[in-house]
Order: sequence, then C-alpha cells, then structure tokens
Amino acid sequence: MIVGATGSIGTQTIDVLKSLSGYKLVGFTYHENLKLAEEISKDFPEAEFLSTKTDLDRFEEMMEKLQPDITVAAAPGFAGFKLAYVAIPYTKRLALANKESLVCGGKVLKNQLRKFGVELIPVDSEHSAVFQLVERGIEKVAITASGGALRDWPVERLKEASPSDVLRHPVWSMGKKITVDSATMVNKALEVLEAMELFELPMEKIDVYIHREGVIHGMVFLKDGTVKIHASVADMRIPIAYSLTYPERFYRNPEFPKFSSLTFERPSEERYPLFFLVNYIKDSYALRTAFNAADEVAVAAFLMGKISYTQIFKVVEAVLKSLESEKAESFEDLSAVNEEARRLACEITRYC
Ligand code: MG
Repeated sequence: MIVGATGSIGTQTIDVLKSLSGYKLVGFTYHENLKLAEEISKDFPEAEFLSTKTDLDRFEEMMEKLQPDITVAAAPGFAGFKLAYVAIPYTKRLALANKESLVCGGKVLKNQLRKFGVELIPVDSEHSAVFQLVERGIEKVAITASGGALRDWPVERLKEASPSDVLRHPVWSMGKKITVDSATMVNKALEVLEAMELFELPMEKIDVYIHREGVIHGMVFLKDGTVKIHASVADMRIPIAYSLTYPERFYRNPEFPKFSSLTFERPSEERYPLFFLVNYIKDSYALRTAFNAADEVAVAAFLMGKISYTQIFKVVEAVLKSLESEKAESFEDLSAVNEEARRLACEITRYC
C-alpha cells in the first residue's frame, strides 16, 4: 500500500516495485494528480486507489479491507501524519517517509504502533542510514545535510533569493516544499527531531554536518571509539527499497558512490537561523507542530512570491512567539495546534 503514490517518494516507490519480484501493490492513494494515478493503475491493475482530496472518508475503510503487509506513508504534511496514524491498525509494517508523524506525533504515533504491534522502518535517507548502523551501546549519531541550493551565497544576499534560485538543489531531486526546507535547513531540524524519536536519543547526541558530496548519509559512534559510516549514491530508491525488503536486500542498484575528498562542515546560525530554532522547540510537541505548520505556510507564501526568502524565518519565529496552546497530548490536541499555527502564519503573511 502506498499512501501518497503520486508524489516524489510515491513515484520512486512505484519504480522500486516494478523491479522487485514477490511484491504486489494492493492499493494506493493520491491527492489530486488523477492522470498519474491512472497511469500507476495501468501498471498495477489489481491495486485499488482513491483520492485523499475527495474521498478521505473512505481511506480507513480501504485500509481495513486491504490489510496490507507494508504501508508506505509518503503523503506529506500534517495531513500525511493523520493518514499514517489511521493506517496503523490495519498493517504490519509502516515504512515512514512522512516527517510530521514523528516530529509532531512522536509519542502519539509510537503509542499507536506499540498498541497494534506494528513495525516502523524509516524511509528518509539519513534515518535509513542510521537505522542500518545502530547497535547496542551507541554514544551518538550524526546525519548529513547538503546545505541546500544557497549554501555558497553570501549571507547578505539571501534576502534576494527567488524561488527558482532555491529550487536548484545540489544533490537530491525532491518535491518543492522539501527543497526549500533543504535550503533553510528546516528539513534537517525536522530530521533531528525524527532521529530523537526513532533512536530514543537526546538532541545533544545527534550531530549535523553539511556534507557537500552527498555520499555519506549517517554515522553511528560506538562506545569503543568505532565510527560506523553509511554511504551510497544519493538515490531515494535505495532507502525506499530497504524499507520494503528489510532485513533482506533484494533491490539491485548498479552504482556505487565515488570516494575522493569528503568534506564535513558545521552549519552556521547566521546562514541557517531556522535550523537553530530546533533548540527552542525540541522538548514540546506543541511547539514542534507549530514550527512545522508555520514553515509550511511561509514556504508556500515564498513560492508564490508573497514574502522574501529571509522572511520565512521571521514568520516562523513570530508564530512560535504568539502561539497560545502549549499542551498537545493527543492527536486532537496536535491538530488544534496545527490549525492555530497555520492561522497565525496566514495572518502574518497575508497569504492564505
Ligand atoms: Mg532526508
């Protein structure tokens, strides 16, 4: 089952499925790209599908009927978290690509997984890397970032960056929102929070390096001084396939990464102020949810030309400061915070 089959992760999952034998696609959802959904359906005629835009109320019914062994949760945003949450009782493995599920959901999602005995396998490349390396007795982990499309721009020029400047990602090919989040390193802030949840680590034990070559995705530091490093070409199909075939590796990819000089830098607060907000939000699911919601609105406003690149930070910071709800212990609480933060961000950007 693929939730969010027509997006970037969804279509790459379809690619992987075409080359794996022994796997059957029983169903999928799409948001509004009906044309692509119909193409997928031609390749997988037995798969049932529905639109989460028009038939959201039928989603749970579909999950209950299909009872898929594996559900790839690839729909983006807070809405994608909701779908992942609803899917849990009807599946055995959640291959998780949606970031909000752990960033906002965290405890709520993990309780649901535990309750229904569902296995969680990360799809995100950095978390897949660390997941493949972890063992008992880890001291800390590190994940890498590309630094985004503006990594070499003079800081004082960042305010002039246009959407097309930002959308030129140096390493990965991804959706628009995540490409902007890569330039601001919001994406990496979300990934640090995800790693805290997945590997049960405090933030101090998760290092982030800007690694321009895009070869190394994660590292695990062990107590005896050993560092295990995961490397591969930057191709999302590799971690997607691993989430489907784990603990085996059935997927064949003909290409190994080229090792020459590999560089690692610490991100600077001046260039990536949004990333450093992670220190402020890390311990509160309400603040994390608000951070994500405000960023979603601010990025959309930036892509529409309503605010400048550097105003994304200002919008998110202002929303976090004016947020009133602080308690978020259930799915309903989180939804309410998400709504409140979106509304505040809309007011500030005058965009929605
Ligand atoms: Mg990633």
